[in-house]
Amino acid sequence: MSDLTKLTLAGALDGMAKGEFSSVELTQAHIEACTAGKKLNAFITDTHDLAREQAAASDARRAKGEAGLLEGAPLGVKDLFCTEGVRTTACSKILGEFTPPYESSVTANMKADGMVMLGKLNLDEFAMGSSNETSAYGPVINPWRKGTDLVPGGSSGGSASAVAADMCLGATATDTGGSIRQPASFTGTVGIKPTYGRCSRWGTVAFASSLDQAGPIAKTVEDAAILLESMAGYDPKDSTSLNADVPRWRDSVGQSVKGLRIGIPKEYTIDGMPAEIQSLWDQGVEWMKEAGAEIVPITLPHTKYALPAYYIVAPAEASSNLARYDGMRYGLRVDGDNLDDTYEKTRAAGFGAEVQRRIMIGTYVLSAGYYDAYYLRAQKVRTRIVEDFKTAWESCDAILTPTCPSAAFPVGRKVNDPITMYLNDIFTVTTNLAGLPGISVPAGLDKDGLPLGLQIIGRALDEDTVFKAAGALEKAAGFTAKPETWWI
Ligand code: GLN
Repeated sequence: MSDLTKLTLAGALDGMAKGEFSSVELTQAHIEACTAGKKLNAFITDTHDLAREQAAASDARRAKGEAGLLEGAPLGVKDLFCTEGVRTTACSKILGEFTPPYESSVTANMKADGMVMLGKLNLDEFAMGSSNETSAYGPVINPWRKGTDLVPGGSSGGSASAVAADMCLGATATDTGGSIRQPASFTGTVGIKPTYGRCSRWGTVAFASSLDQAGPIAKTVEDAAILLESMAGYDPKDSTSLNADVPRWRDSVGQSVKGLRIGIPKEYTIDGMPAEIQSLWDQGVEWMKEAGAEIVPITLPHTKYALPAYYIVAPAEASSNLARYDGMRYGLRVDGDNLDDTYEKTRAAGFGAEVQRRIMIGTYVLSAGYYDAYYLRAQKVRTRIVEDFKTAWESCDAILTPTCPSAAFPVGRKVNDPITMYLNDIFTVTTNLAGLPGISVPAGLDKDGLPLGLQIIGRALDEDTVFKAAGALEKAAGFTAKPETWWI
């Protein structure tokens, strides 16, 4: 395999700028890696011919001195982002061969910046899951291995697996309750969920609209900063889009954390968490101290209610968003005896088991008689979580926690036990409920040699500090481990 796939995004952009290689060469190397990596099932749609055309066009632009932020970089796109003229499935049978006539705002931004798109990446159906096993296109396999096939995490499992296996220089992902950060933690990659509203949701298939945020999965913190700079920005087509400046976040990476106050929430120590995750977290505290940060114990008292509240709010919004898949306008249709029968047959055939479970929970908690007991209560909990963070920001500038309570687990292990599966999100859902930015940085390996991530949470719109702290963590951890390339 060509060495060009071992580059970081920053390294590749630099190499092209210096004329060391072209986008066509870089893209070809990644196409070969994608073809060799088929076993991982990370890409469900290949757009290699399109990628070659985009790479040639990119080289031509560069020759004219018109290089954009991502000029000529071969990247992957989670199949939740609508791509004009390229099938977009959300990894659900219900979307069938749906080929959007429009482009999502996030991918449009990236295209305008010179992205080369290698293809569309596998995910849990409608981004509902933590292991990529609910995809209608089969599970994604984690390049990291321990005798048996492991999940890459979810829902952005295809994105994480493809980046970890050097099939692309970076990928788009989305995070409703942890779907960027948990797969990043499971695959030794970096993933950031920015502040809610940073990236436009326009043209991204909706799961739970008040929680959904796009963000990148990348090889390094600097790469994540470059990708997010391209993806983010105000979009009048999304009413929740924030009209805020998009800084050059990569300048924050490498800045000193001297004097930065890092909060350590006591509620993130939970029963049953492996000792090595606790000790990695302790190690993270030491690293931040050595880098000059001040460590502050904090309390986020409503943390234990976050997961139950999330698993009410997210299904409630999902049940409403997914009402549009009725077999009438696009996607799958299974004809029945009458209109209602057609709806029922289409939705029974088109949605997988996990999505059906969410729709049932969602309609139940929104129904008359249960609305106050469940949905309204969950919304009140959400307000408490927001307030917990507000209070915490009085004494700290960023928060350090583990990303997940476990490392990657074997394919099939948790798939029939939704509650255990939902526990994966225990440290990540809080930031979605509060709309805050959170990043996962690979920080170490467990006793089986599998990657573990640490999470930095920041104030709303303060990705600067998040990148600064994440850069310091990355530097101290010095995580350079790569999976053995058994899949080639
Ligand atoms: N694992 C969580 C869920 O299943 C989060 C998914 C996500 O962030 N899209 O809902």
